Amino acid sequence: MKFLPRVFAYLRPYWRLAAFSVLLTVLAALTGLAAPWPLGVVMDNVIGNQPLPGVLASFTSSWLAAGKMPLLVAVVVAGLIVAMLHHGIAVLQNYVTTTFEQKMILDFRSDLFEHAQRLSMAFHDQKRAGGLIYAINFQADAAAGVIMAVQPMVQSAVSLVGMFWLTYQMNPTLALLSLCVVPFLYYSVGYYATHIQERLVAVKTMEGESLSIIHEAMSMLRVIVAFGREPHEYGRFRRQGERAVTARIALTLRQTLFGLAVNMITAIGTALVLGYGGYLAVQGQLTAGQLTVVIAYVAAIYGPLEAISTTIGSLQDQFVSLRMAFELLDTQPEIQDAPDAVVIERAKGAVRFENVEFSYQGRIDTLKNVSFEAQPGQVIAVCGPTGAGKTTLISLLPRFYDAKSGRVLLDGTDTRQLSLKALRRQIAFVQQEPLLFSASIADNIRYGRLDATQEEIVAAAQAANAHDFISRLPKGYDTLLGERGATLSGGERQRIAVARAFLKDAPILILDEPTSAIDSKTEAVILDALDRLMQGRTTFMIAHRLATIRNADLILVMHHGEVAERGTHEELLARGGLYKQLSDLQTAQARRRTRLPSAPPA
Ligand code: ADP
Repeated sequence: MKFLPRVFAYLRPYWRLAAFSVLLTVLAALTGLAAPWPLGVVMDNVIGNQPLPGVLASFTSSWLAAGKMPLLVAVVVAGLIVAMLHHGIAVLQNYVTTTFEQKMILDFRSDLFEHAQRLSMAFHDQKRAGGLIYAINFQADAAAGVIMAVQPMVQSAVSLVGMFWLTYQMNPTLALLSLCVVPFLYYSVGYYATHIQERLVAVKTMEGESLSIIHEAMSMLRVIVAFGREPHEYGRFRRQGERAVTARIALTLRQTLFGLAVNMITAIGTALVLGYGGYLAVQGQLTAGQLTVVIAYVAAIYGPLEAISTTIGSLQDQFVSLRMAFELLDTQPEIQDAPDAVVIERAKGAVRFENVEFSYQGRIDTLKNVSFEAQPGQVIAVCGPTGAGKTTLISLLPRFYDAKSGRVLLDGTDTRQLSLKALRRQIAFVQQEPLLFSASIADNIRYGRLDATQEEIVAAAQAANAHDFISRLPKGYDTLLGERGATLSGGERQRIAVARAFLKDAPILILDEPTSAIDSKTEAVILDALDRLMQGRTTFMIAHRLATIRNADLILVMHHGEVAERGTHEELLARGGLYKQLSDLQTAQARRRTRLPSAPPA
């Protein structure tokens, strides 16, 4: 309930449409009220001989001279017009309502999507993508659902009051009798609302889980196919799906049982009214026509009562969705702009780490007391065993994560004082696994700078040694890539990623093992492109193969989250420490691979 004001904020831009829709609702309710009258008139004044009430009597007296047929025709035509009006208004109302409902949902969904993108890596590390997709795509509907429920509730409430008043005019006892079911309805709605929430959360979580499995399977398809694990994944999906379905069925059963309880209560009410009304008619206190109209009204009173009760019931579903969606919206991004964040233009590219400490949630001391400095244009290589913290170290520079203590400085300014947008504009990435969008090659390169011209894209591709192979493709730059660029080889994808980085033309470059997944022949072509890319940029290069970092200005050897050794290639070799060990190991491996005979023992 506390979300309602926030939901209504989404309605604000569409308040005109909403107001119009309310007006139509009232009209629909009024035409609905008129609906039972023709039947009563036909029974009492056409078939029976009762005089018509007040105004109508003087108005129609001249027709009645000509027999009852003109009256019958008039009543039937009037009834037809009322019915047509009622349905016409309903269509218009439906159109207006759908329009602002869909617009509102889109607004809410867009906010969720935007927010999910802004949440920090640390948040996404903990959450599975499926749950987010579920929240953005399905739970956002609840915002409109809640508002939409207001409409039938208002309509029902208006009809309820109107019908009650009219029934009360005809027979106060019957009218009051019809209301004796209200306390029972009230109780059952309350009982239902409090008992269903937990189940709803459970079912929705399970449904989100199913989406997670699909999402994971689609992004891991290569691994799944390679290991022949399709049946395993299918089984996982199926079992999860079955659990969700079982829970959903149990839930729906409860929801329908609740509907049944509401209907039973009103049926008992109808029976009471019918019994007592029949008794009054037998006593001669009610005409048959009056009884018909009263029963029609009582039935009509129960319509809105049932509608209100079931709406409150189904609203629980919306409330739960809404709560989950707002929880997402209320998650504060851990990494945010400082209130007085500075926007910078192109940085020079001097980077300094000062006593940086960092831990992932549940993994203490990922980085311990890391300090180093990079002058503009220098190449800093980061090497060390797997899990040493190389990627983590580099992730602190674009503020994917923030250091627990210590500072990261860019051109002498703490990166936390820069606006995130400005900071990230300074950094281009080439990752181990080139992530490409399922779009054309040109679009993938253009991602580096969205307003780049075709010439600039081609120039970037040429610099990245990618132009030749792209030109050989039948559709050239317009070639559409499959999911994650799957239609190209690893080396080709990597060169597109390099072209993208060229286009971004940032003063700082991060290369995260860009050639580790690529064979040595293609590696040379990429290294050549990377050499060109590194010109004039401060470069951070994570490398497994030490051969690729020989010329670095500074090599940091990471070990268990600490900088174990630092220096140039020669200095580190001379030191005879961890770097020397790693280097010897790789030389030996390289010999084995190329089947070179090892040097004979001296
Ligand atoms: P490297 O790049 O040197 O192989 P990483 O920086 O990726 O090492 O990881 C350092 C350590 O932090 C590893 O033990 C890894 O398991 C852990 N780690 C990496 N990413 C996360 C994460 N998102 N959440 C928790 N722990 C992580």
